[in-house]
Amino acid sequence: MSRVAVVTGSNKGIGLEIVRGLCKQFDGIVYLTARNEKLGQEAVQKLKSEGLNPSFHQLDITNEQSIQALKQHLQDKHGGLDVLVNNAGFSYKGADTTPFGIQAENSAGINFFGTLAASKALLPIIKPHGRVVNVSSQGSNMSLKKCSPDRQARFRDRSIQEEELVKLLNKFIETAKEGTNKKHGFSDSAYGMSKIGVTVLTFIQAREMEKDPREDILVNCMCPGWCKSDMGGWEKPTKTAADGADTALFLALLPPNTKGPQGQFFYDRKPIPF
Ligand code: NDP
Repeated sequence: MSRVAVVTGSNKGIGLEIVRGLCKQFDGIVYLTARNEKLGQEAVQKLKSEGLNPSFHQLDITNEQSIQALKQHLQDKHGGLDVLVNNAGFSYKGADTTPFGIQAENSAGINFFGTLAASKALLPIIKPHGRVVNVSSQGSNMSLKKCSPDRQARFRDRSIQEEELVKLLNKFIETAKEGTNKKHGFSDSAYGMSKIGVTVLTFIQAREMEKDPREDILVNCMCPGWCKSDMGGWEKPTKTAADGADTALFLALLPPNTKGPQGQFFYDRKPIPF
């Protein structure tokens, strides 16, 4: 049976570059996924015009029905998947005037809770030797430093459970709505807090994989760096989206039985502290 890779949020930006790279380097079927079917199909056609051959499936990581439909498809057609790149993400622009509480809810809703929901559905059907890459951001590291010592200690605790992490992110949203998030020890970056969630979730997932009977599944997260994209902006970043995809591709393509890295945060192909 062919091996299968899935990249979330891959109709454009870094996700599209990850799909492009996988189409060239991964020995198997590569799924470009998008919440908007039309944008996804257009991206598939673009890659096909370059001689590449991605498959397509709709996926909105904030919609449980959409997640379950992808899961069912992967199970029925391929018996699971081998590589999952949780790339889909969202950030408000600095000048956006949306109230901070709403920014907190939507940023955490997509970046953390969406990634969590997609992972909860898809990690159980990852095959032995599978690779999971969560696209986080060094914004999470910066935000962590702005949290209170107590909160930092909880987020850095490598024995933290998913339930506590979910509670912490919900508390951040609740206090952001009241305007008391800083008083409660959280940072003032909705995006940064949501990516703390993604980074710490990676550590939890990696720890759980160590106990899993399936062989050799590695879960890591990474920061692409500041890249030209609709999210990063087109003027100031010096990296291209393809540059940003490089470390995700490196982690997704780690050869079988490499015994690690497991539960690490990567930047420029190297582990960095959190
Ligand atoms: P883009 O805005 O270019 O692309 C984001 C992708 O995520 C789009 O395909 C978007 O779809 C998709 N997406 C958003 N919400 C959802 C959802 N609910 N379900 C499924 N897909 C969704 O951003 P980048 O390519 O720059 O970012 C990719 C990842 O890299 C993100 O996780 C981001 O946080 C991270 N990152 C980016 C940096 C940068 O400088 N660019 C720096 C650090 C991290 P749609 O087109 O429909 O909106």
